[in-house]
Amino acid sequence: MLSYPPGTFVAIAIATHGLVGLALGAVLFDRPLAGLIAGLAPDGDFLFPDLFGWPLVHRGVTHAAVALLAVVLLAAALRDRRTAAAVGVGYGSHFLIDITTPMGIPLFYPLVSERLHLDVAVTGHAPWVTVLFWLCGLSALGYWYVRR
Ligand SMILES: [Zn+2]
Repeated sequence: MLSYPPGTFVAIAIATHGLVGLALGAVLFDRPLAGLIAGLAPDGDFLFPDLFGWPLVHRGVTHAAVALLAVVLLAAALRDRRTAAAVGVGYGSHFLIDITTPMGIPLFYPLVSERLHLDVAVTGHAPWVTVLFWLCGLSALGYWYVRR
């Protein structure tokens, strides 16, 4: 079985979330930066100090629908609707990838604290799935760039 070298998994996973958000933000809304930042944002929870505890941990509240709603409302208040849509899709794309991993995400926190895992037979961070995300993301960005 193909696996990542030690220490590179998190960096590759975060880069994949960023690329997917970037591509979706660019192609769907012409807002690549908003998509990039939103695709990365949920994993900002890696910066939470350990002393915070649940739900301010990795795959805690930043991976809940309530956080997605909050960032979309904030983006809508601060910017235009296309930016808010890019933020929503970028942030949501992060959820779709993470929910397929064995760890899952607490999608319905604070109503339900357990993490939800969607079993689709392969994890969203499997090496071949990551390669597929990168090929599709880079292709979509190339299409967006040429079309502009
Ligand atoms: Zn995540």
